[in-house]
Amino acid sequence: MKQTLLLAAIALLLALSASARTLSVSSPDGNITIGFSLDKKGTPYYTVERGGKTILAPSRLGLVLKDAPALTDGFSIKSTSTDSFDETWQPVWGEEDEIRNNCNELRINLRQKKQKTMRDIAVVFRVFNDGIGFRYEFPRQKSLGNFTIMDEVTEFAFTDKHTSWSIPYKAHYYEGIYRELPLDSIGTASTPVTIKTADGLSMALHEANLTDYASLNVDANPGSPVLKAHLTPWSTGEKVFVTDVRTSPWRTLIIADNDAELMLSRLMLNLNEPCRIEDTSWIKPQKYIGIWWCYHMRTHTWHEGERHGATTERTKRYMDFAARNNFGGVLVEGWNRDWSTYNFSFTTPYDDFDINAITAYGKNIGVDFIAHHETGGHVANYETQLDSAYRYCSDKGIRYVKTGYSAWAIKDLLEGKERHGSQFGVRHFRKVIEIAAKYGQCIDNHEPAMPTGLQRTYPNLMTQEGVRGQEWDAWNAAGGNPPEHTVTLPFTRGLAGPMDFTPVTFNFENPRMPQTRVNTTLAKQLALFVILYSPLQMASDIIEHYEANPGPFQFIVDCPTDWAKTVYPEAEIGKYITVARKAKDSYTWFVAGATGKDARKATVNFSFLDPDAKYLATIYRDAPGTDWETNPTPVVIEQRKIDSTTLLEIDESRGGGFAIKVSKLY
Ligand code: CA
Repeated sequence: MKQTLLLAAIALLLALSASARTLSVSSPDGNITIGFSLDKKGTPYYTVERGGKTILAPSRLGLVLKDAPALTDGFSIKSTSTDSFDETWQPVWGEEDEIRNNCNELRINLRQKKQKTMRDIAVVFRVFNDGIGFRYEFPRQKSLGNFTIMDEVTEFAFTDKHTSWSIPYKAHYYEGIYRELPLDSIGTASTPVTIKTADGLSMALHEANLTDYASLNVDANPGSPVLKAHLTPWSTGEKVFVTDVRTSPWRTLIIADNDAELMLSRLMLNLNEPCRIEDTSWIKPQKYIGIWWCYHMRTHTWHEGERHGATTERTKRYMDFAARNNFGGVLVEGWNRDWSTYNFSFTTPYDDFDINAITAYGKNIGVDFIAHHETGGHVANYETQLDSAYRYCSDKGIRYVKTGYSAWAIKDLLEGKERHGSQFGVRHFRKVIEIAAKYGQCIDNHEPAMPTGLQRTYPNLMTQEGVRGQEWDAWNAAGGNPPEHTVTLPFTRGLAGPMDFTPVTFNFENPRMPQTRVNTTLAKQLALFVILYSPLQMASDIIEHYEANPGPFQFIVDCPTDWAKTVYPEAEIGKYITVARKAKDSYTWFVAGATGKDARKATVNFSFLDPDAKYLATIYRDAPGTDWETNPTPVVIEQRKIDSTTLLEIDESRGGGFAIKVSKLY
């Protein structure tokens, strides 16, 4: 009897040690480690630690399926393998001209035996010096052909109710204000979710390479620091129909020492596939103006009539202004039929918009007509015209298309029923990017699914909205975007990729909507052109307002939108940010700072400059007494000689900022 008990105890111990066997993989610098284990029921868990401190406690992995046993437990480890990557690649455009992908990989092939079925899936982890990513893989097999995901049970078991920034899942088109909340109070929120710990770490939870799957959101529960994946469903309740694409997107967590490092992480891009477009020479970053703000100011209309905005004459006038001021493109909304019925044709211009004359005129002076495809959310109508619409653009010499899915008339949902971030939306948006690439068209997608770094694979996807942009300052009943909004975006939505926020409004009041205003100073509008990164960057105001302010506007005239290097001399989420970007193929730097609701003194350390050179700084800053609320427009423009040892103090007014062009002298 005694012996039997002892043997039983030994057997139990062996079983325990086998089940508690933890596999692990560490970052190249050894600082971050992911652990993986199965519990006694064969339920998979992972952990993340950094510098010996727990970042994520044991967090569940798995999926619940429709009409099939769940892929949540009963697993054993079939095999494992490791790999490592250290490569440097050149993006077609970006915030720097080289990106290093340096990480270690651990692949765990899991086998589940339940009743008489046997199913294999894999979990693949990658660990970088600045964070982690992991995804599920579903190799096709007899017992796992096409299947339907009803829930992804992936957890992110943070160790405390850290401070976080996120937008609620219910914010349509991701046009929400980022809320600063303890992690357990965010309800259901869209990613990126940005997190700061009491001991100073800056983290961001998001996803990379969203392909034929549903967008990631997270659920929080009051009192618990554990977040759980919440996939955007179809209107019928399913989350993902898995057919040909047999992997989930990567679930990503950036882990950085501070807010500046957070923004310099390129982990999301490194987890996307390399460029699939062979000849990328036609994909060119540029800045643009548009026949656009006039619609938001309600002085002109998208549809035809006496106040129609998109006329041949106005477009040519905007093209002339663009050519004179170093802009590459003019966006014209309201050029095509039919804005009265929302039954859009993407190949039929309005009668007062002579598209052949306009494209010929633009070609002659080197300015692109940027076409607009508003769908109103009517995806089916657009899909039947996709091929003809993009062939039409190509035939007319058009190279840029802004797409739009503002479905306000149909419940803010695609086709009146599907969310933009659903698998339905994700599939449609991918189809558009691929057809656009085939016809040599660059895309600026408004009302998208939340971006996940696809621009690495498809660099013709240049920028997207999915952000509460400057248009809200023109008509929002609550008075526009608060001053801290634009110094929160780079640390939140900005982590998901370029934003078509459309800065540079020089006009601060809308007489037709007197309750609204732009909640910044004019100097901060200049700064936002550099701070809010977009390779296709808009100066959003009507040209008359720029013509009336040539001094400050000169900064925008000089400023490019493609960069060789980016550094952040100062940054704190929601409070202030200073960025310095070096123009591609140039010695010139563009430095910009902004503050939120509080006035402050920025201190710019120019140590990023070449130590052997002297520079001329042309500074555009808030004039004394400037204030976003009472006196937003005065700008002081001055020049100073600086070098890499210079420490420059600059006063930022409430809601203010500054912009500096730094030219190399010798
Ligand atoms: Ca919008």
